[in-house]
Amino acid sequence: MLLKVQRKKIIETALKAQRDKLIPLTMGNFSIRDKKTGYICITPSGMEYSLLNPEDIVVVDLQGAIIEGNRKPSIETQLHCRTYAKRSDVYGICHTHSTYATAWACCGREIPVIVAELAGMIGGPVKCAPYAPMGTTELADIVAKNIGSQNAVLMENHGMLAVGDDIDKAYANAFIVEEAAKVTMYAMQIGGMKTITDQECKALRKQTQEGYGQK
Ligand code: 13P
Ligand code: ZN
Repeated sequence: MLLKVQRKKIIETALKAQRDKLIPLTMGNFSIRDKKTGYICITPSGMEYSLLNPEDIVVVDLQGAIIEGNRKPSIETQLHCRTYAKRSDVYGICHTHSTYATAWACCGREIPVIVAELAGMIGGPVKCAPYAPMGTTELADIVAKNIGSQNAVLMENHGMLAVGDDIDKAYANAFIVEEAAKVTMYAMQIGGMKTITDQECKALRKQTQEGYGQK
């Protein structure tokens, strides 16, 4: 079996997302790009995560052609492939329909930076890519374009996509966007919300990249 370790890691990540309530039912998908082969391991479409075995994960190439696997891959395979194609720094992707981030996406509103970790991990406000129907190449292109060099983007009337230089970082980014979406909504209700300036966002991003966590 090709890329067994990566396939197991995808299942582990999907289960974590379900446990952390980032995913209603199977509304989301997860992938890893292997550094050696360039192949992408991705979740199968619409399969209950608790029932997944490594052989259910599908291996595709950068164009989305199946290399190994008997399952139908996620309908968002092109979303993952085209994001990897645009971002040579990305090796893990999480697409979720988490509640608060999706609420912002349903209003077509970007999430402003009021929590420092959003600036540190995502790089600035989380933009919202315009609407396109799920599972289409149109959606894949719009999202891949709108994420730019940031680590997450909202998808209008749909959900969000987070990327990272590995799947754990992509997962952490998805989690932090959901938290920021929630805190920002409450702060707006309290009133008098203060945003972090662009200049301070840049400084926080640099500080996080250079010094946060263990080396
Ligand atoms: P899949 O189950 O095919 O991955 O689709 C879920 C989804 O999020 C569609 O946008
Ligand atoms: Zn989706």
